[in-house]
This record gives sequence, structure tokens and C-alpha cells, in this order.
Amino acid sequence: MSDFDLFVIGAGSGGVRAARIAAAHGAKVAVAEEYRIGGTCVIRGCVPKKLLVYGAHFAEDLNDAAMFGWDIKQCQFDWPVLRDNVLAEVDRLEGLYRQTLTNHGVTIFEERAVLTGPKSVRLASGREISADRILIATGARPHMPAIDGIEHALSSNEVFLLDQLPKRVVIAGGGYIANEFAGIFHQFGSQVTIVNRTDVILRGYDEQIRDRLLQISITKGIQFRFNAAFDRIEKREDGSLKLSMTGCDDLDADAVLFATGRVPNAQGLGLEEAGVTLGDNGQVKVNERAQTNVPSIFAIGDVTDRVQLTPVAIREGQAFADREFGNIDRTVDYSAIPSAVFSHPPLAGVGLTEGQARNKLGSVRVYTSDFRPMKNVLAGRNERSLYKLVVDEATDEVVGIHMIGPDSPELLQVAAVAVKAKLKKADFDATVALHPSMAEELVLMK
Ligand SMILES: Cc1cc2nc3c(=O)[nH]c(=O)nc-3n(C[C@H](O)[C@H](O)[C@H](O)COP(=O)(O)OP(=O)(O)OC[C@H]3O[C@@H](n4cnc5c(N)ncnc54)[C@H](O)[C@@H]3O)c2cc1C
Repeated sequence: MSDFDLFVIGAGSGGVRAARIAAAHGAKVAVAEEYRIGGTCVIRGCVPKKLLVYGAHFAEDLNDAAMFGWDIKQCQFDWPVLRDNVLAEVDRLEGLYRQTLTNHGVTIFEERAVLTGPKSVRLASGREISADRILIATGARPHMPAIDGIEHALSSNEVFLLDQLPKRVVIAGGGYIANEFAGIFHQFGSQVTIVNRTDVILRGYDEQIRDRLLQISITKGIQFRFNAAFDRIEKREDGSLKLSMTGCDDLDADAVLFATGRVPNAQGLGLEEAGVTLGDNGQVKVNERAQTNVPSIFAIGDVTDRVQLTPVAIREGQAFADREFGNIDRTVDYSAIPSAVFSHPPLAGVGLTEGQARNKLGSVRVYTSDFRPMKNVLAGRNERSLYKLVVDEATDEVVGIHMIGPDSPELLQVAAVAVKAKLKKADFDATVALHPSMAEELVLMK
């Protein structure tokens, strides 16, 4: 007899869902968490990030308000107020996650756990626990390159806790986290420089949409250094940083944030000792049933390095628990997963980019709408949105939708249903526009 039917390592997006659903199916479940219940998304990822994005957006809205007749005096931003309110909201959410687990009868161990065999784990306190199945849901962590002085740099783990806003911030990386924080800091008044080792930002998103963000970001005053790399970071006596660079001039900064990718949390977990095969990026290798090569050990979420997004980790956790404990045959469908970058303005996409569609399908039709949103026109804000439909010439099926502009993640989530349902361009044409809206552009493209 094992102590538990299921032992989950990691109480993040995937682990919490798996633990809760398995328990609801009647399993005896325990979960171990070494940091805080809720994981990256809730504690130091999607949630606090999005709240900062909302906070940052007021800078533009307050600016634009004048043309709408609002006379706002004494406009001033107080970082500690926003930071502390965001952290309080994170505390509240952590409490809710803990309560959900407890309400489902899941035993929580708030300490690190490592594997000691195919069906056993050891807690940091030394206690050994046996379980019929073990689920690795340990997520990923920021990749920090081994350069001199890297200890002076921030990762996304610390960026939410800053004592004060840096006047000058340098951000390493060209992915979504780098571009989102560039927008956030810029709106708060920091001077922002993005340093990227290639000349491509947001790889994987549609090229025209990425180019539009780059162009708008540069116009706003965010600086870019492409094909550049860090040699050394030195801290001066006054606390400022000297950044020695290759590929561009050296830089001065008050803070440097590394957003150069995330690596699976699979090291030091006892996986190798338990005989679990790891992939080239150090990720836990699993089959479509989330099972590793050791039959009693499963893995979901970022640690498997497939699609590192919260809704995907949640689906994987749900499917795992339903299959293993609910007798429901469920697997995760990875096609047409929508995603967004909460930059200023935000962008979002689903399905094939134009480039991917041309490579895969050969003949495609592309429809674009390049327009200045009504609100921007009155505000005198010279920022244009771009919406794009990618259509398979042979079938008329809309295989990709890509957009940049105000609220595009909100619109894209709805539009993603059409791509998932394999709707045709003719279905878009047949839908009457909702006027006046930005989204009506989606059904008016000729
Ligand atoms: C700044 C930032 C912004 C993001 N924004 C978005 C977004 O807008 N949308 C989106 O979909 N995704 C976003 N993500 C990604 C999202 O957070 C992850 O994809 C998601 O959290 C993965 O869930 P998970 O369950 O795999 O792992 P996690 O949520 O990372 O949970 C893993 C947990 O395991 C714990 N753990 C690790 N090892 C052990 C151990 N040995 N013992 C006990 N506990 C352990 C960790 O402390 C952690 O709490 C963002 C990430 C970051 C960093």
C-alpha cells in the first residue's frame, strides 16, 4: 500500500489542476511546493505582469484624455503603490489556490520534493513518501547566461519586487517577456533599451505584425540594439551598472533585466536516478499521455518544454487526471493555440503565420486591414493597427489570424474559435459587421 495514489511535485498551473481533478475523481493526492502555491503564472508571471500592463496603460490613456475633454491635474505615478497592490492581489490568489486544494482533500507539503525511485519521493524535511503515480509539474525557470556580473542582473522572478523604478533599464532578449516589460517600463517613464543577440524579435509571430510592433516601439522611444551581446556587468559605487557589450557600444543602466528564455526545472530532481529520460534541452520527455519512459512517472507543463503557456499546462493537467483517475480518455490537442504579447500596443495570433502557410500550403490568400483606430484618431495618436487573415487558397479555410492594436488579445481569443472550427473566409464575409468597432475589420476585409 502506497501513502498516496498520486504525488504531484509543483503546485503551479498544471500541478494544481491535476491534483484537484484527480482528488475529485476519488484519488488520495498530495502536492509539494517549494516556493508559493499557484506557481509562476499566479505568483510571478501572467497575473502580476498583466496587472502591471493595466497600470502602465494609464500613462497613454491619461495623455489621450485631454482630447476627450478631460483636464487632469497633478498626474503622477507612484510605483510602490502599484507594486504593493499587485503583490496583495497575488497573496489573495495564492490563498484561493490553497483553499481549492484543501477543499478537495489534497494534502499540501510546502517544501521541496525530489524523486528517490519510480514510486517514491523525499521531502526537504527528510520524510520519505510513496505513491502509485508521481507527476512532475515543476515548471521552468529564467535562463541566466554565465557572464561576469550576472548576479547584478534581474530576472522576471525579481522584477515584480523592485524597490524603485529604474531611470534607465536595459532588457536582454527579444521574446514576449522582454517586449512586455519594455512596454511596461517605458510607460512608467523609464528609458528602455532592448538588447537582442539577433535582429528578430518575437520569433514565431507573423513577420508583418512583429515589424509593426518594432516600428511603434521605436517611435515611442524604446531603443533597440540588435546582433549585440553582453560581455560583463559591473556595479559602480553609486549603484549604477556598466554594461560591456559586443556588437554595440557599452551601455549604462540602473537595472538590467534578462528575459532570455526559460529552462525546464528538471535538474536535481532525482529524475536521472529514477531512470527518466531527458531531452536535449533538459526537458522531461513524455508521450501523448504525459507518461515518461518510467511507467509510474508522468510530467506536464513547462518542464516538458512543449508549449510554455498556462492554459496548455492546465489542459495537460486536466487530461492527465481524467485519464489516470477518471477513466476518461482525453488527450491534448495542440493545434491552433492562441497566444498574445501584452506589449504596448498588444499583439496576438492563432494558427499559421503567412510564412508558415506559404511553406505548408503553397498557395494562400492574405487579407490585411491597416487602420488607425477611431480612438487614436481623436486622441491624435498616430498608431496604426494591423489585422491579418491567412486563407488557404484551395479550401477558402482561414488558417491564421494575426493582429496588433488595442485589445487585440481580447478579440483574438474569440477569433481563434473560427480558426479552430476551420471556418472559411466566406463565413467571415457572411457575418454582418458590428459598427463601430475595431473587430468589424475582421469581417470587412476584401
Ligand atoms: C513573466 C512571465 C509572464 C508570463 N506570462 C504568461 C501569459 O501571459 N500567458 C501564459 O499563458 N503564460 C505566461 N507565462 C508562462 C506561464 O507562467 C507558464 O507557462 C505556466 O506557469 C506553466 O505552468 P507549470 O504548471 O508547468 O509550471 P509553474 O506554474 O512554473 O509551476 C511549477 C511549480 O513547481 C514548483 N517546484 C519546482 N521544483 C519543485 C520541487 N522540486 N519541489 C516542489 N516544488 C517545486 C515551483 O516553485 C513552481 O511553483 C509567463 C511566464 C513568465 C515568467
